[in-house]
Amino acid sequence: METPTVPKSLPLRIHEGLERVATALRADDWVSARAAGVNPTQFAIMAVLEGRAMGMSVRDIALQLGVSQPSATDSIAALERKGYLIRSPAPQDRRSVRIMLTDHGQASLTAAHATRSVAERAARSLDARQQEDLLVSLVTMIRHLQETGVIPVQRMCVSCRYFRPYAHADAAQPHHCSFVDAAFGQHELRVDCREHETADPSYRAATWAEFQKDQPLNPPGL
Ligand code: SF4
Repeated sequence: METPTVPKSLPLRIHEGLERVATALRADDWVSARAAGVNPTQFAIMAVLEGRAMGMSVRDIALQLGVSQPSATDSIAALERKGYLIRSPAPQDRRSVRIMLTDHGQASLTAAHATRSVAERAARSLDARQQEDLLVSLVTMIRHLQETGVIPVQRMCVSCRYFRPYAHADAAQPHHCSFVDAAFGQHELRVDCREHETADPSYRAATWAEFQKDQPLNPPGL
């Protein structure tokens, strides 16, 4: 077997690796969606609404999922017919509509989540240090995507106004969440936190610079 003397670039091989993981994630999504009696796009809409008490607009749902508004509208209508979602006027503006998960939708989502396992099993094949390093790498990549406008701001600690990176000398729990007023460790960084509130861009830039100071694997910048 021939070994290439000039391998593809590392970023390209990472891209290839992520594609393989994405294939497994899509298979997982099909299993979960089938368990909930919906298709993967409808399941993704239910998942993005989970934990959002105020719901979301159709536009924001479409943006979060990277689908067109007409496609999101069709899927939302199908989910309404199943009793998984309801529409409600926005409290601040009665002319706009918020889409919310019903209790029935939440119960189906919770039951379907229990069928997910492939990607989590793969993550558990890493040791604790590797899991933490991968989490930080993913946070770094997701942040790059959001700060360059490819995806909307995600509910991650590094974009949250409550995040105080390296506020504590304790190496095991260096970060601070001022929402719950508690220290937490690197491995506890959130990727999708219900309590997240988006910080303004200057605060996000300042906390990211602080967060990166002690990240040997991640050079400063995007
Ligand atoms: S509220 Fe959530 S996202 Fe914000 S810092 Fe605390 S744990 Fe992180």
